[in-house]
Amino acid sequence: MTSPKPDPMSPVYNFSAGPAVLPKEVLTQAREEMLDWHGSGMSVMEMSHRGKEFLQIASEAEADFRELLQIPANYKVLFLQGGAHLQFSMIPLNLLRGRSKADYVSTGIWSEKAIAEAARFCEVNVAASSADRNFTYAPAQDAWQLSADAAYVHYTSNETIGGVEIFWTPETGDVPLVADMSSHILSRPIDVSRYGLIYAGAQKNIGPAGLTIVIVRDDLIGHAAAGTPTMLDYRIHADNGSMYNTPPTFAIYIAGLVFKWLKARGGLAAMEKTNILKSALLYDYLDASDFYHSPVAVENRSRMNIPFTLNKAGLDADFLQQAGQYGLLQLKGHKLVGGMRASLYNAMPVEGVQALLQFMQEFEQANA
Ligand SMILES: *Cc1c(COP(=O)(O)O)cnc(C)c1O
Repeated sequence: MTSPKPDPMSPVYNFSAGPAVLPKEVLTQAREEMLDWHGSGMSVMEMSHRGKEFLQIASEAEADFRELLQIPANYKVLFLQGGAHLQFSMIPLNLLRGRSKADYVSTGIWSEKAIAEAARFCEVNVAASSADRNFTYAPAQDAWQLSADAAYVHYTSNETIGGVEIFWTPETGDVPLVADMSSHILSRPIDVSRYGLIYAGAQKNIGPAGLTIVIVRDDLIGHAAAGTPTMLDYRIHADNGSMYNTPPTFAIYIAGLVFKWLKARGGLAAMEKTNILKSALLYDYLDASDFYHSPVAVENRSRMNIPFTLNKAGLDADFLQQAGQYGLLQLKGHKLVGGMRASLYNAMPVEGVQALLQFMQEFEQANA
């Protein structure tokens, strides 16, 4: 047995892959503003999405998001719903632009889901896949067999379940590059101008569930296939400032507070430094230990989602149960891969990683 959580008053740390940890400062501010936002006498939840208060909240959120990612002026930022899952269909519906083929790179379960959905709309060329090694790495660019007539190239820059991250930006020439950045957007700077479209569900590294953010280059808007439902046409959302229908107002508000929290901490370059430090603490320990194991190729190890296994069989349930007593929550790996997974999003403080390491060391000593 490991010792119980040292101090009953010490914080708990939430390692969930999503919905996930939010900055304590943001939650505290939301609590303070819950019943009366800035003297309006209303909660943000009660406001009209067309009223001046909420319009201010939404436009500041967009401006701060643009500033953090340095999004060029020829890109629209859309605040949508339906999760990353709905983007799996909105992307082919809008970006095929009369073509019949798209390239997809498969690095894990989320890539596979995107591919399966796209196949309902077009011919999918799987340009590269890491299925041969159980999705524990990402194929190098020179192994990508891109087609000349593809409407776009889609890849998943961070596989949340497998913990495989691609740190370089693929080169696709004139063919628009599309990325599912759901679980690592805002974890480091990216060059948005290299992409045609970027999308992310908010509930990993942005804010609460219910909001999905799409960054899309202007020239890719307005080409939805005939028969595309109104709500699935990027042009409708772009022309209406993401307010064609009622947007997820409270989720946008909380995301906006997270953007201000990120700016106050020095923006994405500063976040990247912290994320390198936090993830290295855990990976270094996993590599030094004979008790724990990281399955992912070193050059593709995600800074956000870190799966690991115990080398001894039959201890997983004990590990999770004792971690819970220690205040370390939601460490169970995804049901499709098993083992453990620690998600270290922006809002996870370094103290949370240190607490996890301390517990893992004690558990190793007690069970080796
Ligand atoms: C969570 C996740 C999804 C699915 O997100 P939903 O919001 O549940 O639709 C898709 N892709 C990646 C990379 C994810 O992490």
